[in-house]
Amino acid sequence: MNVLRQLRKAMRRDRQFDLMHSARDMELDVSQGGLLYLEGLNLSFDGFKAIDDLNFYLNVGELRCVIGPNGAGKTTMMDIITGKTRPDSGRASFGLNIDLLELSESEIARIGIGRKFQKPTVFECHRVIENLELAMAGDERVFSTLFAKLSGEQQDRIVEVLTTIGLMEHAYRDAGALSHGQKQWLEIGMLLMQDPLLLLVDEPVAGMTHQEMDRTAELLRSLAGSHSVVVVEHDMEFVRAIARRVTVLHRGRVLAEGTMDQVRNNPKVIEVYLGE
Ligand code: ADP
Ligand code: MG
Repeated sequence: MNVLRQLRKAMRRDRQFDLMHSARDMELDVSQGGLLYLEGLNLSFDGFKAIDDLNFYLNVGELRCVIGPNGAGKTTMMDIITGKTRPDSGRASFGLNIDLLELSESEIARIGIGRKFQKPTVFECHRVIENLELAMAGDERVFSTLFAKLSGEQQDRIVEVLTTIGLMEHAYRDAGALSHGQKQWLEIGMLLMQDPLLLLVDEPVAGMTHQEMDRTAELLRSLAGSHSVVVVEHDMEFVRAIARRVTVLHRGRVLAEGTMDQVRNNPKVIEVYLGE
């Protein structure tokens, strides 16, 4: 497996760029190939079980789609992974050795878990490239840095991310002038500047044109391997375009897991979700 090599490369790159993520220097144990382990998670809101004995495992470099009807617990699962919400019971571990339930939201972000919310939150009156600089600095007050003042390595990294997200030719436009889809890509780029090991993306293609959806599928596929990615999405066509493995959540637990075809032909899934 070259999984470990990939992981080490990602970590080494992080140190090169001195992103002040010292927390990531802690050894992450992925010796079993797993990056994320959620086990026996439970969470109730006023007696309502939003998460019900949930088990979810993700491998290093994997791209996973999570689908399920409204209220299935998809966003809540991401809230638990990122430390926004705490479960009542169960285990959430990054690699084999980092207990996510003991870390704060910002610590979880620093050890390499990046999250993209549904609505893009780019800085509209700043240029695309400045948004990426800001994401690298990790400090919302710093907009004064000029590209030329960055180190060669930092400049290389920005160009690399601009290329990945397909916004090279828009680098000097204000982010506010971008299309909805381009803003979503910029926000993914801002996450990439922090070199996360795990990216969580909630409904990335809502409101996108068909062409933008295709490019987003391409982008997410290109990130898999060097990152692990979890995508929550409603659009089945999109899920079919990107997913290797699909998890169906229903009432806070895993109803089915497998390839898109396996899941689509599962009678339980047809009943609760696809047959809607
Ligand atoms: P999904 O993202 O799959 O649509 P959610 O994770 O947002 O579902 O919600 C799962 C269930 O938990 C829903 O019934 C929702 O109303 C409930 N829920 C989520 N967050 C809260 C909260 N903070 N307080 C009360 N109920 C909540
Ligand atoms: Mg949701």
